[in-house]
Amino acid sequence: MVKKYNIGVDIGGTNVKIALVDQKGAIVYSNSVPTRAEMGYEYTVKNIKETIYTSMKESDVTIDSIGGIGFGLPGQINSEAGVVRLLPNIPGWVNVPLGQIIEDEFKVKCKIDNDVRVATLGEFTYGAGQGCKNLVCITVGTGVGSGIIVNGQLVRGASMSAGEIGHMILQAHEGPICGCGNTGCLEAFASGPSIVQLAKEYLSGGKSAKFEELANGREITPFMVYEAAMQGDAVAKRIFAIVGEWLGIALTSVVNLLNPEKIIIGGGVSQAGNFLIDPIRKTINERAIKVSADAVEVVTAKLGERAGVIGASLLIDNK
Ligand SMILES: [Zn+2]
Repeated sequence: MVKKYNIGVDIGGTNVKIALVDQKGAIVYSNSVPTRAEMGYEYTVKNIKETIYTSMKESDVTIDSIGGIGFGLPGQINSEAGVVRLLPNIPGWVNVPLGQIIEDEFKVKCKIDNDVRVATLGEFTYGAGQGCKNLVCITVGTGVGSGIIVNGQLVRGASMSAGEIGHMILQAHEGPICGCGNTGCLEAFASGPSIVQLAKEYLSGGKSAKFEELANGREITPFMVYEAAMQGDAVAKRIFAIVGEWLGIALTSVVNLLNPEKIIIGGGVSQAGNFLIDPIRKTINERAIKVSADAVEVVTAKLGERAGVIGASLLIDNK
């Protein structure tokens, strides 16, 4: 029977998204379930299995027309063995043979990979990277990650951990402390939490700012800083300029190293659009080697939240 669809599963800290994706990258059915990380991985996996069955039933699709099931997960994945090594923000997922568990259940191929790499595959195939051969997709949210495509192929590296741009060290000594334990990593300078940190520093320095008014006593979020920038607040714009410059510094090294055609900026913080993208472009133009700077275009991601499930479904036919 012709395999009309693949299933893409995007596991996040709060929710798991599951989608039936056709051979042209269109989502024909989607569903989501809570991750409930505190219940252990067995619970989450059981819920995912049930939701896959429900999804097939509700969309009137049988397992015979499914080519395979792909997963994107936020952490360290052995994609060759189909084993989840570690998910830093979802406790209990340590050395879980997810690929085998799913293949045993559904008797179809299962592929798993890191979520940012999977989203990169989605953007490369159906999003902002369509038609490119060499690109880097960077996601800026609570953390900073990246996926790399060289000569049309995803780069995984010797132990399948390539792309950890968030831990590119930008300050050798006495830098801010990163979640990884190192100091001076990009992620400690430019991420959702570092935007909030900068906002607080400006406020405690006595700068009046629109985002304080928007917060109205609540915890400041990166989105409030973005809203303030939209309303013309100079401090909020300055925060994005600082964060954008740090991202631009890191990406200058990436541009010099890999000479990509496109850099795609995704993740929650990329909602800030040109407040963030303009300083990234400016920094790369000023600092990267000219022949490489001239060749690269910096754009925002196109698929948004769909990149995860679409990219995961694409793992099935990706070499
Ligand atoms: Zn780090």
